[in-house]
Amino acid sequence: MVPSKPLGDGVEIPQLGFGVFQVPADETQRTVEAALEVGYRHIDTAAAYGNEEAVGAALRASGLPREEIFVTTKLWNSNHGRELAERAIGESLDKLGLEFVDLYLIHWPRPARGLQVETWSALQSMKAEGLSRAIGVSNFRVEDLESLQTAGGAQPSINQIELHPYLQQAKLRAWHAEHRIVTEAWSPLGQGAVLDDETIVSIAYRHGRSPAQVVLRWHLLLGNVVIPKSVTPSRMRENFSVFDFDLTADDLEQIQALDREHRTGPDPGEFDRT
Ligand code: NAD
Repeated sequence: MVPSKPLGDGVEIPQLGFGVFQVPADETQRTVEAALEVGYRHIDTAAAYGNEEAVGAALRASGLPREEIFVTTKLWNSNHGRELAERAIGESLDKLGLEFVDLYLIHWPRPARGLQVETWSALQSMKAEGLSRAIGVSNFRVEDLESLQTAGGAQPSINQIELHPYLQQAKLRAWHAEHRIVTEAWSPLGQGAVLDDETIVSIAYRHGRSPAQVVLRWHLLLGNVVIPKSVTPSRMRENFSVFDFDLTADDLEQIQALDREHRTGPDPGEFDRT
């Protein structure tokens, strides 16, 4: 059983989901079908991933009731601003073959464009219209969150950020906790980079678990939502089997000491690509 975290608005998000970044469109349907078979009920895609149609096809092929699956997609950078954002969610829903998503996120803050507040206001309208059950942001820094707060209106219920043992985001996580924003970790395994780390490997050895399981367990203990990606069914199962062991206080301290500001992706303050 995967626990859920409450978002604002009475919506619950399964704490462990499945990400499909860099899964080619022609492999996505069978990959997502395999993940649903393993037991994942939370799928994280984005307009920019180019695989929303295949995610939708997998959801339909699974025969699972709509209400049992939590689907996230994201608004791409070229569609900031009210009009473009409203068109973009319509296109995503058409591709997914869904009437609504469970979570819609602004993918990147693009601070230099000055459209954050207008775009966030558009997402609030989408939620009011029932196009997304919950809304949030991704890659927002404290200053981006503060600018939404200053503008008033609803607060994002979640911020999906790069987060793994080499980039622990203490400042942002503390801000989220203070403002009741759920932290969602993308690249939770550092795209595989943290799995050869000696400390992680030795903790895994002591528990008779894999390094990936140790890292995912660490995230869950911190309270993060996680969305690991794998196209290999045995790894999908491994990443899903993380609820039947615990880490010690000493393990947690050792992992905390691995923090080193190492990013696998772009710096959100600078990433302005369309
Ligand atoms: P990840 O940290 O999930 O790492 C995935 C890679 O780790 C795999 O390709 C594989 O090489 C390896 N791996 C996975 N399970 C393993 C296992 N059990 N043993 C050994 N190796 C294993 O990286 P990711 O795909 O970049 O991130 C996960 C998801 O986060 C994405 O699919 C996407 O949904 C989301 N994401 C969001 C953003 C954003 O800007 N919001 C950016 C990147 C990713």
